[in-house]
Amino acid sequence: MPEIRKDPVFGRWVIIASERSLRPNEFRSAAEVHSCPFCAGNEELTPPAIYSLPGEGGGWRLRVVRNKYPALVSEGVTGSSRDGIYDKMDGMGFHEVVIETPDHSRRLDEMPVESIADVVKTFVLRVKDIKKDPRIKYVMIFKNHGRNAGASLLHPHSQIIDMPMAPLRVMQEIDGAADYHRERGTCVFCDIAREEAAFKRRVVADNRSFIAVTPYASRFSFETWILPKRHMSHFEDMPEGEALDLAGVLKTTLGKLNVSLPDLSYNLIVHTMPVQEPEAAHYHWHIEIMPKLTHVAGFEWGTGFYINTVSPEDAADTLNSGRKYKI
Ligand SMILES: [Zn+2]
Ligand SMILES: [Zn+2]
Ligand SMILES: [Zn+2]
Repeated sequence: MPEIRKDPVFGRWVIIASERSLRPNEFRSAAEVHSCPFCAGNEELTPPAIYSLPGEGGGWRLRVVRNKYPALVSEGVTGSSRDGIYDKMDGMGFHEVVIETPDHSRRLDEMPVESIADVVKTFVLRVKDIKKDPRIKYVMIFKNHGRNAGASLLHPHSQIIDMPMAPLRVMQEIDGAADYHRERGTCVFCDIAREEAAFKRRVVADNRSFIAVTPYASRFSFETWILPKRHMSHFEDMPEGEALDLAGVLKTTLGKLNVSLPDLSYNLIVHTMPVQEPEAAHYHWHIEIMPKLTHVAGFEWGTGFYINTVSPEDAADTLNSGRKYKI
């Protein structure tokens, strides 16, 4: 069973999951492409579907399956135990894969907006189902696209990891947003959405429900956030009618990133309130997209400071003009 160990200095939890190293890596051998477990016709190569949407001709258009090489396993208890001076927990949780399309080579942003909305609605449904288990405190939805982003398979997919604790990054965000709310009486993310919509210079995509911006203090070149315009602390509270709006902004944003940054690798992460927490006035869910243009270098690792060589204003200009960016 995987173990979750706590760093005694930072309070940061680390999942030690040795079995994960056994997972196939498509980038290693071209032969494995023909046996892609996520392609239509290869369903027996994955665990059975937890959820699926019917496609044309009796097939499927989207499938959710348990990860064959999970970072966490469904057995086990929550609550930490002592290990000498350290704290650890059973690696309890769930790890699911959302196979976004039966089509091996169609990128998410190349799919029709309705199909992207299917993916978004599936995320919401899965979170609503998963949070019924009181052991689950946080649901992490993310997508690794491309070799440099740590994806082991090319086939368009995203992942959901359900964890018995909230990640440190999210807790730090919630604390920072709570401080802002105490000082100014408003939600920082509502303020960012309003400020950026008025300033316009850093806006990459915008519709009635969502706005995509290159954040003011972007850590990474072409880092992009997608924010709901309406205050909402929990991702799973997004009304079904807004899924299509989110899909539209995702399609535009990822499309622009793919035009300006050919062979783009990126990580996309949903940040949201821990699922068992009540609705909060100070925190607001959002999506962070981090293109992988450069590796995090020694300075960043050592200091937690980031050096970003593309200003967020230049990044937005490049994306909105459809120019290719020369790395
Ligand atoms: Zn495939
Ligand atoms: Zn807000
Ligand atoms: Zn965030």
